Amino acid sequence: MEILKIDHLGIAVNSIDEGNKFWSDILGLKLEDKETVEEQKVTTAFYPCGDSEVELLESTSPDGPVAKFIEKKGQGFQHVAFRVADIEEALAELEEKGVALIDKKPRRGAGGAQIAFLHPKATGGVLVELCQRD
Ligand code: ZN
Repeated sequence: MEILKIDHLGIAVNSIDEGNKFWSDILGLKLEDKETVEEQKVTTAFYPCGDSEVELLESTSPDGPVAKFIEKKGQGFQHVAFRVADIEEALAELEEKGVALIDKKPRRGAGGAQIAFLHPKATGGVLVELCQRD
């Protein structure tokens, strides 16, 4: 498996407009892409930061995964995403190593990326996303 870089850090927020006040108005990061991914019941906002990005995640529904995360843990850091050269190959390798996967097959994420999540029980408690952008 070839990890190219940290693609982005995912941060769960109650409201992207509220989050924007810190990440953009104060820190000066620029909101580049805002997109709703209906299957995941989430709206995402990406703020490029050097060679990586910050992703704010706002739930579109009280039963979405981001809403459930905030209910349990509160707003804040939610996942780290590594960009990989070949996501199918990475998932096959992780499965062979016995790593619990949330997604055994890549699915479509924001920005047309292919993404897959590893289970936090396999990573010491951190939700890890793999993503491939072609
Ligand atoms: Zn992400």
